[in-house]
Amino acid sequence: MIPVNTPEITESDIASVIQCLKDGWISGEGPVIASFEAAVAASVHRQYAVAVSNGSDALDLAFMVLDLKPGDEVILPSFAIISCLAPLLRMGLVPVFVDVDRQTWNLDPGQLVDAISPKTKALLVVHTYGLAADMSQILAFAEEHGLWVIEDAAEAHGLYFEGKPCGSMGHISTFSFYANKNVTTGEGGMVLMNDPQLHEKAVYFRNLAFLPNRRFVHEDLGWNMRLSSVQAALGLSQIKRVEQTVAKRRAIAAIYKEALQPLSPNLTWQAESFAGNDNGYWVVGMVLGQESGFQDAQQVMAELTKAGVGTRPFFFPLHNQPLLAKFGPSRKVGSLQNSEWLGEQGFYLPNGLGMPLDKVHEAASITKKVLSEGMGL
Ligand SMILES: *Cc1c(COP(=O)(O)O)cnc(C)c1O
Repeated sequence: MIPVNTPEITESDIASVIQCLKDGWISGEGPVIASFEAAVAASVHRQYAVAVSNGSDALDLAFMVLDLKPGDEVILPSFAIISCLAPLLRMGLVPVFVDVDRQTWNLDPGQLVDAISPKTKALLVVHTYGLAADMSQILAFAEEHGLWVIEDAAEAHGLYFEGKPCGSMGHISTFSFYANKNVTTGEGGMVLMNDPQLHEKAVYFRNLAFLPNRRFVHEDLGWNMRLSSVQAALGLSQIKRVEQTVAKRRAIAAIYKEALQPLSPNLTWQAESFAGNDNGYWVVGMVLGQESGFQDAQQVMAELTKAGVGTRPFFFPLHNQPLLAKFGPSRKVGSLQNSEWLGEQGFYLPNGLGMPLDKVHEAASITKKVLSEGMGL
């Protein structure tokens, strides 16, 4: 079985972790955490970075430090991971789901006018699968309406929108360092900002909300979201090669695209670029065309599993998540048909950074064979 993700751990990565263990700084405090925060902040041109235990915590923490009250509305794309919705549900915020664009799979700014209400206070944007979202439209809209912008850049580390790093543009931005991300610490995340007050609050809530002048006294309920120094040591080594990582992702995607080109239009891909910003192909994702001969992505994935190629389905649209029934109100804007289409017909193929390129060729040719047969070609 060719696994959907194979991380790349180099000798330098291993040396960095061993050095950390030898030095004895292993908790969520100390110089290794500070260095990793500084390295991530520098990589995305931010003043402040706060390391946390994963990308989902990063989103929770990002929402926690903003001045939001239960009942406030937050606009977000329906085509996203549950981690984008979870903070809203935990805090009693009202999700307002908007659709994504059919070509970019990113939040469609054309939907925003119908999403806004006097209660809207924030907007969450995701750079889906490594393609930068339309930040110029989104930021202009947010500014016009006085909204906070939370930028989830977990899939776009090392990528840019019009020369600005993804993760540098929202009031607050988040990253994940999960095993399949461009920079990994196994599990890990980061919250970044330029505002010193937001930074202070994030540091406070990450560490159980200890009062700065009297530890073990609490005026607020915080969390333990600390990242360990051992994980940060891995990240410090990984982040040095983020540019090569992006180049490798693109090279892997190019191999699949070339092999599967003859199957279009039964297979569609995310846009190659948006507004001059090239896709970073965090995953090699594709969507079945209407006449593909397959019922849905689940069917293709079952066939590919049998043939030895690992796959993952796309996100399930957030507006259709069963758990919403257990929470307060939410709003939907328009038909959300593109999010539903992607959720039903989309899947992605193995593209781990630790995968040798001949394995990529092998996975691509097996995929081509399985798909061509199913498509009757
Ligand atoms: C991976 C990811 C997350 C969640 O990160 P974890 O570290 O797995 O909690 C959140 N948002 C996006 C866009 C992601 O890709």
